[in-house]
Amino acid sequence: MLIDNLFASALNILTFYTISFPTRYPMWLNYASNQVYLLLYNLMAALFVLYVCALTKLRRLQRSILAIVGVVVSLEAILLFTSERTHLIIYYDEALVYRHGSMQPILYVLALGLVAAGETIFVLHRKNFNAYQMTAITGYIAIIFGCVIFQIIFPRLVIGNLGCALVLFFLYNAFENPANYTYKDTRCFNRRAFNETIENYSSNRQPFTIYVIGIQDLDYLRHYIGEQGADLLTGRIAERLEACFHRIAYHLADDIYALVCADAGSDQDVLKEIDRCFREPFHMDWSETRIRISTRVIPGGYVAADIAHLEESISYLMDNPDDGTDAVKSIQAAIAKKERHDQLVHILNRATARDEFEVFYQPIREVTTGKYATAEALIRLRDDTLGYISPEEFIPVAEEQGKIIVIGEIVFRRVCEFMQQTDLDALGVRYIEINLSPLQCAQPDLAETLLKALSDHGIAPERINLEITETVKMDADTERIMHENMELLKEAGITFSIDDFGSGFAATDYLFKLPVSIVKIDKSILWNAMKNEGARIVMLSTIRMVKELGKRVVVEGIETEEMASLLTENGCDYMQGYLFSKPVPQGEYVTFLERNQ
Ligand code: C2E
Ligand code: MG
Ligand code: MG
Repeated sequence: MLIDNLFASALNILTFYTISFPTRYPMWLNYASNQVYLLLYNLMAALFVLYVCALTKLRRLQRSILAIVGVVVSLEAILLFTSERTHLIIYYDEALVYRHGSMQPILYVLALGLVAAGETIFVLHRKNFNAYQMTAITGYIAIIFGCVIFQIIFPRLVIGNLGCALVLFFLYNAFENPANYTYKDTRCFNRRAFNETIENYSSNRQPFTIYVIGIQDLDYLRHYIGEQGADLLTGRIAERLEACFHRIAYHLADDIYALVCADAGSDQDVLKEIDRCFREPFHMDWSETRIRISTRVIPGGYVAADIAHLEESISYLMDNPDDGTDAVKSIQAAIAKKERHDQLVHILNRATARDEFEVFYQPIREVTTGKYATAEALIRLRDDTLGYISPEEFIPVAEEQGKIIVIGEIVFRRVCEFMQQTDLDALGVRYIEINLSPLQCAQPDLAETLLKALSDHGIAPERINLEITETVKMDADTERIMHENMELLKEAGITFSIDDFGSGFAATDYLFKLPVSIVKIDKSILWNAMKNEGARIVMLSTIRMVKELGKRVVVEGIETEEMASLLTENGCDYMQGYLFSKPVPQGEYVTFLERNQ
């Protein structure tokens, strides 16, 4: 548009001479100067439409718009260049006076039509632009329209190109101003410049590689060199990168830079080059301080694989300032983890909405009688693509998403339904153990909800034992609610066990502070005890200690006869493990009982 307006203005000045002194020049020059001038002048409107398309990144319609604009410009050209014969647009009469033909206004109509089209496209995409940009674009039509009116009233005062120049000034300021693409303090290229560069590469389907470079310890340095010093250093780093790589360095975030390379060189070379680039210390202007900088880089091959990973790479670099060479592997792992997590959230939401959970039962053997006097209810989640998902994996996600409350209730009601349908008493089962999440324990209405479910199904509270795990340190308030819940439930007749005792957080004071009657020793304790004499002593003393406190002991994870006899000989009350049965669906559990009791 700038070039077009420049040539149009130059030709406009030339036409001043050809119109004033037609006899001095050959006739073809008289015509040509006016025709080309008018064409270039009108071309501004066409270019405006294309410019707006580029601004709004309107790619889908670009071809059809290009075609329409092409047709309009061709029409103008045909009308203009045939007017020496047709006299429709411009002509010189017999007295060699320059005149407008009968169809001359059509040029205005076409140009205004194009400008209006450009405005419309812009207004439809206005949400992407700020107020100043809106004004600049809206100003376009106002100024052009004003010029046309002025021209009609004062045909001899040609101000069209001035109007266009004015408009271009505003457009340039609003859209092309370098200040939009750089940071004020450091003068580095900003995120917007970076995003647009990448978009250009992508839309042109040009391969490119991004290197994300993190500066180590910038925060720490800032402490010594101050805010201003840090700004200076930031600028210097960008300059250094630009000098080393002969391309722009983008400053993406506090201490994160990126290089975009069109030519995918080998990662190894670029990494070496980055290393070399920072080898020399940075000199601060005002003092003798020389700052040596170390970097951490995410190689291009990785980021380029999927631009969507870029954000994650950047935040990873920011969150893990000390991660050096293994950064890529850790990011990949972090991303895989996040993807899996998101997938789980999705599946959990669906499963909760459609009630797709299943409850399995794992029989627990009473040592003294050899009977399966109880069982643990364990939730199962099946997904068509992922198969069975382990509760070890999805329970923490459900807890984090706040879904565990609903899920816990689903499991509890399922167990109640099962007990209502099946006479477990007749099968020798005294109670069923159900896992409670610490989050459930912190719900003030837990006791009420559970007791209501029991009474709805006519189940005696004595037939339920709740397993609680201490996974996180609770605050005093939560602990109080948990105690209240436990007291209420205990009064009603429900018993409690501490699950996973000996692993993680469960502190020994839980043993006498909470109203629990059973302690479940974690399977990892048992498994260690089988391998290590010290661990065996710890486990056996734990069993003794629990018994001395007047509580019963369950050990889980019994897989071999050897484990079973060790525990039988050492006073364990209940045993749970694959040796007896894996967790099985309800029907299979009943069959198991019928066969084994
Ligand atoms: P947990 O409460 O400690 O349950 C015992 C886990 O050990 C079960 O794993 C069980 O299948 C497994 N197990 C039992 N015996 C053996 C054995 O001999 N060998 C081996 N390798 N494993 C054995 P599962 O079913 O995968 O459950 C894992 C955890 O998920 C449970 O650990 C519990 O903390 C949680 N969970 C399960 N269902 C629920 C539920 O309904 N609500 C809540 N809040 N948590 C649940
Ligand atoms: Mg359990
Ligand atoms: Mg356990």
